[in-house]
Amino acid sequence: MKIFTTKKDLQQHLLQSGALNKTIGFVPTMGALHQGHLSLIELAQQYSDEIVCSIFVNPSQFNDPADLEKYPRTIAADINLLEQVNCDVLFNPPVSEIYDGNEHWHLNLGELENLLEGKFRPGHYQGVTQVVYKLFNIVKPDTAFFGQKDYQQFLVISKMVELLNMPVKLVMCPIKRDSDGLAMSSRNIHLTQTDRQHALVLSKTLNWVKDNFEKGNISRLKKEAELMISAEPDVELDYFEIANGDTLHPADDTSIKTVALVAAKVGATRLIDNVMLADGR
Ligand code: AMP
Repeated sequence: MKIFTTKKDLQQHLLQSGALNKTIGFVPTMGALHQGHLSLIELAQQYSDEIVCSIFVNPSQFNDPADLEKYPRTIAADINLLEQVNCDVLFNPPVSEIYDGNEHWHLNLGELENLLEGKFRPGHYQGVTQVVYKLFNIVKPDTAFFGQKDYQQFLVISKMVELLNMPVKLVMCPIKRDSDGLAMSSRNIHLTQTDRQHALVLSKTLNWVKDNFEKGNISRLKKEAELMISAEPDVELDYFEIANGDTLHPADDTSIKTVALVAAKVGATRLIDNVMLADGR
């Protein structure tokens, strides 16, 4: 695997790939890689000739400096994992390579910005779009791969691509879970043994809602789900929503695509998860 830390070196390499007419698949990450990230790379390999993975803990998407500070960084292990799955290129720039320290960014993301995650993490999606815009401009991928795990993020990035007419195809990849159902996340490193047990209420509740989903009883299901999660010790619910899968507005009986989304603090760690209830097809 080739590893680049500067835009210049990466772009020089990608020029050669371009000359060979290779299609580029891009998997942006913040590192502390797990099987969820690797599943994105494996899917990307089915679509693209050459895979670029980036590892960059983006300061502008953290609204809480303590959260940024304690975000796990495991670059040696990450490189190992990427080599195991035959990733072609890793882009691992320092912050100074991406930001010159004096920038303004604002994109009109509409209501998506203030709903759900946007409400609990003000400014988060401005930071996400800022860095993904920059990374797309550097890598110029044909296709970029993102996880359903960050469902709202996928909608926000789709909106950016549409607003700015960016020539990239986006692919949403399924959520990878541990065998007990917990959605894999870099943040799971912070969970204690007991936190992990408590955290299972999130996927269990999502599954229960999926199993009991009928369009006529959305508000009752939502209330019961909230009660189930709130009854779990050491779990502090931020939101549980059954939403229209395109707008993330609360779903109504006529919503075609429907998704249940949850965010909660388990001990000191904030986790998110979701499940499709109706895919609209
Ligand atoms: P992150 O490093 O957390 O920013 O995630 C990088 C990419 O991996 C994002 O597109 C995430 O949605 C995706 N991802 C994170 N966790 C999972 C998971 N458990 N399954 C599938 N994709 C995931």
